[in-house]
Amino acid sequence: MYIHWFRRDLRLRDNTALMAAATAAGGAVVPVFIFDDAILRGRFASPARTQFLLDCLAALDAELRTFGLHLVVRRGDPLRTLFDVLRESGASGVTWNRDYTPYAVRRDTAIKQALREAGYEAHSFKDTVIFEMKEVATADGRPYTVYTPYAKRWRSRLAAEPVTVQDMPRLATIPLPVSEPLPHLTDLLPDAPATLPRFPAGEAVALEALERFVRGPLASYAQGRDLMAVAGTSRLSPYLRLGVLSPRQCVAAALAAPPGPGPESWIGELIWRDFYVQVLYHFPHALRGSFKPAYNRIDWPNDPVLFAAWQQGLTGYPIVDAAMRQLQREGWMHNRARMIVASFLTKDLLIDWRWGERHFMHLLIDGDPAANNGGWQWAAGTGTDAQPFFRIFNPVSQGQKFDPEGAYVRRYVPELVNVPTRYIHEPHKMSLAEQRKAGVLIGRDYPAPIVDHATQRTKALELYRAATRHN
Ligand code: FAD
Repeated sequence: MYIHWFRRDLRLRDNTALMAAATAAGGAVVPVFIFDDAILRGRFASPARTQFLLDCLAALDAELRTFGLHLVVRRGDPLRTLFDVLRESGASGVTWNRDYTPYAVRRDTAIKQALREAGYEAHSFKDTVIFEMKEVATADGRPYTVYTPYAKRWRSRLAAEPVTVQDMPRLATIPLPVSEPLPHLTDLLPDAPATLPRFPAGEAVALEALERFVRGPLASYAQGRDLMAVAGTSRLSPYLRLGVLSPRQCVAAALAAPPGPGPESWIGELIWRDFYVQVLYHFPHALRGSFKPAYNRIDWPNDPVLFAAWQQGLTGYPIVDAAMRQLQREGWMHNRARMIVASFLTKDLLIDWRWGERHFMHLLIDGDPAANNGGWQWAAGTGTDAQPFFRIFNPVSQGQKFDPEGAYVRRYVPELVNVPTRYIHEPHKMSLAEQRKAGVLIGRDYPAPIVDHATQRTKALELYRAATRHN
């Protein structure tokens, strides 16, 4: 009998370690989840994401109950808890799927060693990525730090080693140790707000969402993915974050669809996911500072008033405000919008990208240390590859290009709902008469731009140049 330790793989189908445990033990598997206080209290703690975790655990438990089983939920130090459940169940070892953040690697290495020293088996598996670090490396075995060659190598490896998706393991109905009741959010995070954005949870829901996406928006994903008002992307990121879906299920579904630029480009995004996992694994310093250390010298002005305006969606730049309010309301934000607001925070408001990274991790249901850090450092120009710091997004022209009718802005910034389309991304340019007609007075009902883009752009370039001059 094995314990399967669920972490960020909250599903029964196509779960590599769970399948291995079930196969080796004739279906006798003790399913365990442990709330790890070190994560709950960590600097990236998030009420909305924790609520989603609780919802997914409830769904997983419900599915296990159809086999006469239940999820054994505990709270505490993972190693001590695993020893408890090993003793209580009589299992001979533990299986889990690997997680690659610096904290998880340290924790899991210590746990594997301690379990083995105590005479138990401990087996970990690749599952949350398509390819692990060593599987996509340069010819001399070094990690890639630039996406394009990484993606090329990744695709050629996929062509040589197609993904296989496994179904449900055969689980035997066995007596299980008792579970603690699934906690309420406030048991875990006493300061959590009473109302939070919720995301539909559970494996069945996630598989349906994947199928809907593959039958619908996938074919036109290459064009639709950048239009913020359109549901042109999969919105599967929360499921991938907690492993409610596997990346193999996603890649296999894309490859089974009629070939074309849509599936091709969507797989490219899943490659970004693997890419950032391996970046953080090899360069854990990126979680504390710039990937390129020279940029740690940027002397950010970090004005807290400007930061608060950005957080609240009150910058006077409608596309930025719509995006920040989407984040607050839904715990999710469109990818194009993430790039725009991240560029705006760093290059227009001159605020350290780590402030933005942390705010995102606090609110995003899909908040993931590797993808979020990679995205922020990409936007700030301090990260792995190409985007040089002098390429600065103009928030007005980004809005005009990727929300041409202003539908996204009107959805999240109701003050601007009646603003004519030609002004929707620059409402402060309306005359007073036009403002009255649109029912919004700039400066009273909606802010004038809190900074001037052209001026800030020049200041940003000076800040970045000053930081790199010492090189
Ligand atoms: P789709 O377009 O349908 O893509 C499919 C999947 O590919 C996504 O669900 C996601 O798992 C993965 N993916 C897509 N784009 C990226 C990317 N650039 N990097 C890594 N993986 C990607 N993604 C997160 O999952 N968690 C984060 O915390 C996160 N923070 C970000 C912060 C910033 C500043 C930026 C610019 C991007 C961030 N991203 C993050 C990447 C991307 O914005 C989201 O993955 C995407 O918007 C999720 O929507 P979707 O599921 O509809 O994506």
